[in-house]
Amino acid sequence: MPEFRQNMVSKEWVIIATERAKRPDQFLQKKGEKAPLPPHREDCPFCRGNESKTPPSLLTIEKNGSWALRVVPNKFAALQSHLTTQRKHEGRFLKADGFGIAEVIIETPAHNRTIATMDIEEVRNTVWAYKKRYLALAETGKIDLITIFRNYGERAGTSLEHPHSQMIATPIVPPHVRNPLYQSQLACDTYGDCIYCGMMEEEKRQQVRMVEETPYFLVLCPFASRSPFETRIYPKIHRSSFASITEEELMEFAGVLQRTLKRLYVGLNDPDYNYIIRSAPIEDTDVKYHHWYLVIVPKLTTPAGFEIGTGIYINTTLPEQCAQFLREVSIQ
Ligand SMILES: [Zn+2]
Ligand SMILES: [Zn+2]
Repeated sequence: MPEFRQNMVSKEWVIIATERAKRPDQFLQKKGEKAPLPPHREDCPFCRGNESKTPPSLLTIEKNGSWALRVVPNKFAALQSHLTTQRKHEGRFLKADGFGIAEVIIETPAHNRTIATMDIEEVRNTVWAYKKRYLALAETGKIDLITIFRNYGERAGTSLEHPHSQMIATPIVPPHVRNPLYQSQLACDTYGDCIYCGMMEEEKRQQVRMVEETPYFLVLCPFASRSPFETRIYPKIHRSSFASITEEELMEFAGVLQRTLKRLYVGLNDPDYNYIIRSAPIEDTDVKYHHWYLVIVPKLTTPAGFEIGTGIYINTTLPEQCAQFLREVSIQ
């Protein structure tokens, strides 16, 4: 029997279509679909020795006299940092200059790694750089929202093989981000506490969608997952902004992130994915009603007409089965 499920924060609905259900292992990627990458490529702008092909580093982590991680401005950014944030009218239409700050985190000099296969030190460097640059961008005063994300693989929209993440700071909080904030604020006004914290309590009680629990984090496949293997990492301590994470939590976060991506890498044979850190807008850095998290969306299906038309996603796999599958992947 198919069922509707509601995302308790955004109030969006999904359809879990068990009639057309696929078993989690049916999403296994074909072996050999991805050619193995070389450790270094002469023509890769992010490989060691090609530093002059990127703008100068904004942040560098060194190891043994050479760089281990670099953050550089995005040369091909859709937004530019020298413009104004002024809104303008063109007749009845609203517009603004394309102001924004876009940066690329080059996570390692090794061309052929990804978070699932890196040394833990490289993953720690990466999340440490996220926080460091987030704080630096937030201080510019012209920014309302900072989005950290990683596009992995062609289906996830990346053109560059070299392991990297991105960060884009915008002077706009779009409805897609604002609407769940309204909802969570409303819920907080009604019930007096954070709806995400309540959701986590419920997930812990039900257990069936849990993938992993550590002292500081919960990993789970959400009740109203929009697509197969959607997986989220939530901090157990209530904080609305990613930038408020402590050093100790950050180091644990690196391990949790790597293990979760490794479950997907091993379990599904290296699928493409996007992950996004959803942190509160700058002005809501310390609020009771928002709770930051990281969401991983493996690119296993394509939204079609019904999804685009209604925003109601049809998910053919039970999140409970995906969570169980991920829990059972042997990652060590
Ligand atoms: Zn490279
Ligand atoms: Zn919370």
